[in-house]
Amino acid sequence: MRFAELWETLLPLGRDAVTGGYRRYSFTPADLACREWFASAAAQRGMRASTDRNGNLWAWWDAPGDLGGQAAGPGSASAGPGARLGGPGAGFGGVGAGFGGVGGAVVTGSHLDSVPDGGAFDGPLGVVSAFAAIDRLRAQGFTPARPVAVAAFCEEEGGRFGLACLGSRLLTGAVQPAAARELRDGDGVTLAEAMAGAGLDPDGLGADEELLASVGAVVELHIEQGSALDGLGAAVGIAEGIWPHGRWRLDFTGRADHAGTTRLADRRDPMLPFAAAVLEARQAASAHGALATFGKVTAEPGAANAISSAVSAWLDARAPDQSALDRTVGQIESAARRAADVQGVEVGVRRESFTPPVEFDPALRARLAAALAAQGMQAPVLPTGAGHDAGVLAARLPAGMLFVRNRTGVSHSPAEHAEPADCEAGVAALAAVLAELAGR
Ligand SMILES: [Zn+2]
Repeated sequence: MRFAELWETLLPLGRDAVTGGYRRYSFTPADLACREWFASAAAQRGMRASTDRNGNLWAWWDAPGDLGGQAAGPGSASAGPGARLGGPGAGFGGVGAGFGGVGGAVVTGSHLDSVPDGGAFDGPLGVVSAFAAIDRLRAQGFTPARPVAVAAFCEEEGGRFGLACLGSRLLTGAVQPAAARELRDGDGVTLAEAMAGAGLDPDGLGADEELLASVGAVVELHIEQGSALDGLGAAVGIAEGIWPHGRWRLDFTGRADHAGTTRLADRRDPMLPFAAAVLEARQAASAHGALATFGKVTAEPGAANAISSAVSAWLDARAPDQSALDRTVGQIESAARRAADVQGVEVGVRRESFTPPVEFDPALRARLAAALAAQGMQAPVLPTGAGHDAGVLAARLPAGMLFVRNRTGVSHSPAEHAEPADCEAGVAALAAVLAELAGR
């Protein structure tokens, strides 16, 4: 099946009629529709579909001669509804023995969930391209020497439970299952409750060593979340690594007072050091080749005619390396403290989350580049400031990524866009990569 044909079948699911953006939050009806779509895409291709213990979806193209061990597995009932949203038991029977390490399965795919009013491509492009690449390989008569799997990782965006890459973090043991079960959405529903409501068993959450041992390499295809490829005139790129990134919370505490009667000299206004921090964020990021953003701020009591008593702000900072990130954040923190001192304001800075730098496997990256070069595709190597499941999985497995040109350069918005010809180029690139990695 051509990419465009399969793409059209997924496009309407979870799209908001008013904004045109997607609201595919984990375990909501929109997400369950996407999961049904995945199961049916697998069934149409005769691929064995299963849901692992962490809610991630898998579709397996087994290698000939490898069927003996796998056919008996409980996950082999690909078309049955029980296999779609089965509990942990529906996972990985039979896979693994003899296929771990470098000889293990080649996994591709991405995620199907979205941020609030996200675009159509972030995540789904990688899943649809994976199925389309398999169709392409089959049409070419290719037979894999090791299993090829399409995966759709659960809650990648953290759009419902607030923790990005939750499915891959649980799979690799980067998040403790007990803590994950207690994560709550905006309505107070826990992950455990939401999973149970979708027919999954939250008691099964946690690292899946058997599954990890069955995988030899991971290649995630993703729309570029920027416009570097467009600037370079290339349809497809290869990821070099993921910048270290984190989130810091800054709390400024001053004194509430009347905006019309308090002399300037008598004020302890927390908004002023906050403003200094915002301006410094731009300066520091520019000086260190980093990115620093205050995207969320709250003011107490929040009255238009009162000096604030407290301002809380969240800094998102990302940089090419740890030292640039440390210097960027350090400079912003110093500026905030200096300005707070001048204004008689207290300031507290707390790191809320942090993801260390990821360098994708250099040997795998070289194989991706060679496979694309053999097809006459020149794929530039790009760093990225965005987190991805492949980055989480890179801690345990050889992992790599392909990026597809984004004509608008916009991401996490309905404006993100990949041209049909670029999507086809992405499928061709992924097919070449899968043939290289899963071939004889
Ligand atoms: Zn994504």
